[in-house]
Amino acid sequence: MKDYLVKAIAHNKQVRAYAAITTETIEEARRRHDLLGVASVVLGRSMTAGVILGAMLKGEEKLTIKMNGGGPIGTILVDANAKGEVRGYVSNPHAVPGLNQQGLLDIKAAVGTNGILSITKDIGLNHPFIGQVPIASGEIGEDFASYLLQSEQVPSSVGVGVLVNPDSTIQAAGGFIIQLMPNTEEETIRLIEERLQTIPSISSMIGEGITPEQILQQLLGEENVSILEKSPVQFQCECSRDRISNAILSLGSEEIQDIIYTDGQAEAQCHFCNESYYYNREDLETLLKVGI
Ligand SMILES: [Zn+2]
Repeated sequence: MKDYLVKAIAHNKQVRAYAAITTETIEEARRRHDLLGVASVVLGRSMTAGVILGAMLKGEEKLTIKMNGGGPIGTILVDANAKGEVRGYVSNPHAVPGLNQQGLLDIKAAVGTNGILSITKDIGLNHPFIGQVPIASGEIGEDFASYLLQSEQVPSSVGVGVLVNPDSTIQAAGGFIIQLMPNTEEETIRLIEERLQTIPSISSMIGEGITPEQILQQLLGEENVSILEKSPVQFQCECSRDRISNAILSLGSEEIQDIIYTDGQAEAQCHFCNESYYYNREDLETLLKVGI
């Protein structure tokens, strides 16, 4: 099944809901960055949340998530947009986690809870919109729920999950965000809370190969959900040789001459997708002479 996201409304438009399966997207991130277990879970959960937040944007709008809780994973950076494209990295893809009291990977300790989750939205205005909250849980999902409540004043339930195979590949990844509109009745809130407490965790749902539509039906009750839209999700980086060439040109001709004399070559790597761009002497001389 290709990755995709669905948007829905529920309970007579009192509730907005999103769900996505992101298995292939997170597997591509794992492969590109050589992520090991805990880093796959941390980046996978963050990218899945990013994809869903991206689906709340329009047209060319985009957002950047930055999280650093002081744990061994370091900084988590994710870019997402309204087209279902997402990319991201963590500073330490090989972070070695401890186990928590349940004998599971200790995600909270890997992320750390001493820092900030910040989301920068570029919605085409002169200044980007920046929202920040302290990292309270380190489990990612709850931190995004806290961001949505505190920074955007929308009560939300966020569930993101990543299952890793014994050989480190991604078995399944996905998540949901459910949001209450200002007019939501007490009775609806009670129904949703009750259901959220009794349904299986997002990790066990995705482990069974569930679709995004089924996630929302399980969460909210099939009879309450209307699916509005279905759209593809993928790992996509906007780096290119032209962009890297521009970055090299911005060093100035003196600096480039210096690289030609000392190293005779240059290699640049994109943080987001780990793609390498190589320039030999001739490439650099051409850049200097004619630009890109
Ligand atoms: Zn890239």
